[in-house]
Amino acid sequence: MDSDMIFNSLANIRIAIDNNKDEIEKLDQKIGDGDHIFNIQRGITEALEMREVLNDEKPKDILKKIGLKIMTTIGGSSGALFATLLMAMAKKFNESLNDQENVAEMFLEGVNAMKKRGKSDIGEKTMLDVLIPVSKILIENKSERDISVLAKSVIEAAKNGMLSTKNMIATKGRASFLGERAKGHVDPGARSSQLAIEAICNQFIK
Ligand code: ADP
Ligand code: MG
Repeated sequence: MDSDMIFNSLANIRIAIDNNKDEIEKLDQKIGDGDHIFNIQRGITEALEMREVLNDEKPKDILKKIGLKIMTTIGGSSGALFATLLMAMAKKFNESLNDQENVAEMFLEGVNAMKKRGKSDIGEKTMLDVLIPVSKILIENKSERDISVLAKSVIEAAKNGMLSTKNMIATKGRASFLGERAKGHVDPGARSSQLAIEAICNQFIK
């Protein structure tokens, strides 16, 4: 069922984030204010707590309601940005999460909404350095029949995007106050997004 796909993905994301908690916290302490891990963990907890209530709803409504919840309960830039992503994805949703073409279009819509909301783009040392390349791969391969192959390409794109933030200076968010001093550290939002994407994709690898 589609709702299981969403909530199982969230449960897997939670494991991946919790397993890398110290690293994410340290990254945000280096170039932000240290709360990113807390914001992310709280967001996932809030979303997972909605499982029972939302289990029989359509994916469109599940994504929208989780987005709304995150928007109103999670602090930090990342809360508003992820909420925007989920709510924009919901708007574009057609029938089923098995419709790969629709998933690619939903994700593109979400990423574009996030870009607009944060007035940001690729190359600014944020989570968008992971999410934009992932969206590109999904669109370019929307007819790929082998989901396992596609999942591996997405994981690779997310990893490269995350690593690319290391030597960037930030032009958006708190890290932008640091100028050159932000260089040498991966962006915390890019790392958490990459872990989330990997956790979702691992479910499709045979
Ligand atoms: P805050 O920076 O408000 O404390 P978080 O610590 O939860 O919020 O999230 C920080 C992450 O948010 C950054 O690592 C970066 O990836 C992302 N971010 C910050 N500003 C933007 C923006 N304008 N566009 C996209 N992502 C952003
Ligand atoms: Mg922070």
